[in-house]
Amino acid sequence: MTVHVAVPKAESCPALVLNADYRPLSYYPLSVWCWQDAIKAVFLERVVILSEYDTTVRSPSFEMRLPSVVCLKTYIQPARNPAFTRFNVFLRDRFTCQYCGQREELTFDHLIPRSRGGLTTWENVVAACSPCNLRKSDRLPRDAGMWPHQMPYAPSVHDLHRNGRLFPPNFLHESWMDYLYWDTELEP
Ligand SMILES: [Zn+2]
Repeated sequence: MTVHVAVPKAESCPALVLNADYRPLSYYPLSVWCWQDAIKAVFLERVVILSEYDTTVRSPSFEMRLPSVVCLKTYIQPARNPAFTRFNVFLRDRFTCQYCGQREELTFDHLIPRSRGGLTTWENVVAACSPCNLRKSDRLPRDAGMWPHQMPYAPSVHDLHRNGRLFPPNFLHESWMDYLYWDTELEP
């Protein structure tokens, strides 16, 4: 079947995907679907359309505006404990070297070095830039005189969501705004 697409291009019309509680399924990366997946989910009756683009797609048998925000009909329970991954360690530490604050050349550092029995765990791994990592080498923090800005900890899903909001993607359609920031905690 041939689908004719009106301007602006459908390819630039991703749909923001919300959980059944109207919050994004994921903040970072922000949960978005390409228009094909969004329309498929609409036809499978898995989602409700909350907002649409002006852009339409049509075939001989149907025409519809592309969804810009969709909401799952069934609530998906978020994982209770975030996975201990390189990405999530960086997200917890806001993609910032915990020693000097810079954001380039990020790697990670064992607070208590592995050579001294330090474990690769949430509580012992921090984001660090390569120069700081080299400088600290396999010394203990007190020997190196290097303490992380924030002592490493096992974050909650909420912690990671909060940090994920600090890194919005390049594309944010105006119709998404009501759903992205309404539940942001106010800074004192
Ligand atoms: Zn550094």
